[in-house]
Amino acid sequence: MKSVNPATGEVIQEYSEMSEVQVKDVIELNLEVWKEYRETRFTQRSQWMQNAAALLRTRKEEYARLITAEMGKRIAESRSEVEKCAWVCEYYAEHAESMLADELMESDASKSMAVFNPLGPVLAVMPWNFPFWQVFRFAAPALMAGNAGLLKHASNVQGCALAIEQVFSDAGFPENIFRSLIISSSKVEAVIAHPAVRAVTLTGSEYAGSQVASLAGKYLKKSVLELGGSDPFIVLADADLEEAAKVAVASRMITSGQTCIAAKRFIVEENVAAPFLEKVKTLMEAYQPGDPGSEETSLAPLARRDLVDDIEQQVNKSVEQGAEIISGGSRIPGIGNYYSPTILTNVKKGMPVYMEETFGPVAVVLPVKDEQEAIEVANDSLYGLGASLWTSDLEKGEELARKIEAGAIFINGLVKSDPRLPFGGIKNSGYGRELSGYGIKEFVNIKTVWIK
Ligand code: NDP
Repeated sequence: MKSVNPATGEVIQEYSEMSEVQVKDVIELNLEVWKEYRETRFTQRSQWMQNAAALLRTRKEEYARLITAEMGKRIAESRSEVEKCAWVCEYYAEHAESMLADELMESDASKSMAVFNPLGPVLAVMPWNFPFWQVFRFAAPALMAGNAGLLKHASNVQGCALAIEQVFSDAGFPENIFRSLIISSSKVEAVIAHPAVRAVTLTGSEYAGSQVASLAGKYLKKSVLELGGSDPFIVLADADLEEAAKVAVASRMITSGQTCIAAKRFIVEENVAAPFLEKVKTLMEAYQPGDPGSEETSLAPLARRDLVDDIEQQVNKSVEQGAEIISGGSRIPGIGNYYSPTILTNVKKGMPVYMEETFGPVAVVLPVKDEQEAIEVANDSLYGLGASLWTSDLEKGEELARKIEAGAIFINGLVKSDPRLPFGGIKNSGYGRELSGYGIKEFVNIKTVWIK
């Protein structure tokens, strides 16, 4: 497996894949150490998790540089990512015990309740777009709940995978309670099939999600999926257009557009569509490609060459079918994997940029006649991850929020993940929830205890 710098094409490091025997050994060690780990007290786990947070803060620059080198995002974004990982560790260190407190319930018993026991080793199949965050948002609640973790990280970010394993080890967690498996996706079945592995979570594409979910079904393992999105960003005529345009572009451009919850379809009431488009155009055109390790750069490369090919194809096919390019619309020539910030209009149902997830700096502006049509267009998607709605009438915003088919809706704000709030999707965006009290309960045995 190779880590290749997306800005320069240079091979940073090569990693050899673990053999089947090595993988089996790691899983068995993980299970063995879990049998003792599940007996540890919350106060002990909290201390280790707080140590992990402190290490992340101390090593922020080192890890940020690693993220930027392996997957290419801007250095400032990488630093924020590491900080957010520290936050999620602190959050669950503080709240896991109360979230998993016994829940007394009335029944015919003298005492009956639900208790929340850990499941055991949980496999996480994770992507490269937030190579630290995606892992920590799984690992912090899973380890605090008393589970063990096995990570199959994306092939292009194995340096990040090993660094994360090191964080938990240095934080004082028992050796082998959190391990990285250096394997390609073809080896995932053997891990899911192993009797020690009790559950699997995947963040990534619909295809990978459906493959892993099928395996989870085949071997009867619990699964959680966080897949793609084609998030609507709805701007009603009474919205603050200036602010809406700023947030729409910021959302679309985070990690150069490689974010599941980025605003991808800008759905705008037609009487404000022209001024909104003008503002978006000015903001998008200000992004300039450069070295993602430099503080001045605004446009970073995409993580891999094939991802540029994918976005190029989606745009080209849509243009062939009648979409109009307002800005950008092509790859940026040169060594790095850069694609120009792109705005498309005249986009119709059936075009790739309407139907599929676009994982790059490509925004689509869809004018609609009123708020009812806005909701119809927003829901006219195979996905249902996040949504953002802009209006100065908060009561109306709240009412419309209930009509939108998505796992989260933010009124007058940027859709973001937050340790305190549940995160996940419906439809082809996946199932189950991460973060908050809901996330930590995905990988526990909700056990009924009944006492006569
Ligand atoms: P993938 O879904 O292929 O990769 C995500 C993870 O799944 C990686 O660890 C990958 O391993 C693993 N994986 C892939 N196929 C399988 C399989 N059959 N069985 C088990 N594990 C598998 O994403 P890509 O990197 O190829 O990106 C393609 C598209 O996916 C993007 O353009 C975007 O639309 C979407 N995506 C969405 C993300 C999100 O945050 N929801 C994140 C990343 C991608 P390996 O790297 O070894 O193949």
